[in-house]
Amino acid sequence: MDRADGHRYFEGLAVAHVLGGLDDSEGRVFRAHLLDCADCRARVGELRAIAHDLADVERDEHRVRAAQVIETKRRESDDADDDLEEAPPATRVSRFTVLGGLLFLVGLSLWNFTLHGEMTQLETDNRNLVRAGVVRETGTSWRSAITDASVQGVVKDDGTDFVVSVDGLDPEQRYGLYVKDESGTTAYRFYFGPSEEGRLYRLFALPDDADRLLISDPEDTGDSPAVPGSEPSGDTVFEASRP
Ligand SMILES: [Zn+2]
Repeated sequence: MDRADGHRYFEGLAVAHVLGGLDDSEGRVFRAHLLDCADCRARVGELRAIAHDLADVERDEHRVRAAQVIETKRRESDDADDDLEEAPPATRVSRFTVLGGLLFLVGLSLWNFTLHGEMTQLETDNRNLVRAGVVRETGTSWRSAITDASVQGVVKDDGTDFVVSVDGLDPEQRYGLYVKDESGTTAYRFYFGPSEEGRLYRLFALPDDADRLLISDPEDTGDSPAVPGSEPSGDTVFEASRP
């Protein structure tokens, strides 16, 4: 395998690494590669700066929405007859900023891909990222029950796939993500380390009868960091149910 062919695999992993979307074994392989490869370190730095800006935009949007909810409640109790004004356009604008940023990130990957020739992992990653952006914008929101105040997240599905976007995780920690069906059986599991920003952003195929999603911080087993098991253990840091 020549260097270009072998390296394309790592280029494909960079975006997912920054968004916390690598599973445990991919994550280990990619981190080991980063130690030797200045190209990938530079690329990860650029992608991380973009992801950081996007996270800021999303946090602002969250704050605007929370303020609107409080304002609406206040007005309802003050004066039930008062006509509600239209929501400030800021929310809509910032949502497009997030999507625009994601597309920029995809564009950056495509640009890189064009430079390096044939499509492989990158094309799949780009398709998944675009698809994740679409599900994130148009999908049905799951009801989230935030069990750890510092962790915030959104889960949305469109009947075929679901996207998980979670912020505020501990970058040093390994986590298990579990999807339960209505009978409480684990229909899907995914072990991951979040991005260095403490994020997970990833698209998954929606299991049949998916009902609830849990992210748990595994029980300490003496290993550092603790390894997630086949069932949730330790603290549940995020939970959402399908409506
Ligand atoms: Zn590299």
